Amino acid sequence: MELIFATNNPNKVREIRNVIGDKIHILPLKEAGIIIEIPEPHDTLQDNALEKAQTISHLTGKNCFSEDSGLEVTALGGAPGVKSARFAGDKATDRQNIELLLEKMQGKAMRQAQFRTVIALIWEHQTYYFEGICTGRITERPTGESGFGYDPIFIPDGSEHSFAEMTMEEKNKFSHRKKATTQLIEFLKRKLK
Ligand code: IMP
Repeated sequence: MELIFATNNPNKVREIRNVIGDKIHILPLKEAGIIIEIPEPHDTLQDNALEKAQTISHLTGKNCFSEDSGLEVTALGGAPGVKSARFAGDKATDRQNIELLLEKMQGKAMRQAQFRTVIALIWEHQTYYFEGICTGRITERPTGESGFGYDPIFIPDGSEHSFAEMTMEEKNKFSHRKKATTQLIEFLKRKLK
């Protein structure tokens, strides 16, 4: 079975394929022949995920899902949250976002944070949401080379290593995206029975 994943982010595709395995063939936008940059104009992960899934569903008429994720830092009132990718500006690199976050966290003892993923699935014209949360803490400085985004400065609860020091399999033991994806898979299994 094929399912369009409304994303252009190869890291997310790799992580989700790693969880889903070969039960379902995940088609990212490019592989589905769709060249589009979908905006994320809303204030919540849920609304942004829905916008992406709806855009692709209207374009193709096919079942598809999308996800929106963000890092929510308690001492920053939940920022960068829905703005995680653009924290240091519209064209910000991961490194610039990390630098800004560490600057804002300087001297703060409270390091608690969580990654949150919301998946919006459009399945036979109905919308379903799945959420995954990974709690942890923000480090004082970046460590590790793997992954993407804020991985080098986030240590999940239950580990002493940042996400960027982990293999994908290790990260997936904790990952917000993995938790949301597992629910998506369970849902699809029930529907495909
Ligand atoms: P979006 O879901 O494409 O809007 O991405 C949100 C941003 O959150 C990404 O660009 C990353 O900066 C950050 N992010 C989301 N998931 C992860 C993750 O698993 N590790 C590190 N950063 C992440």
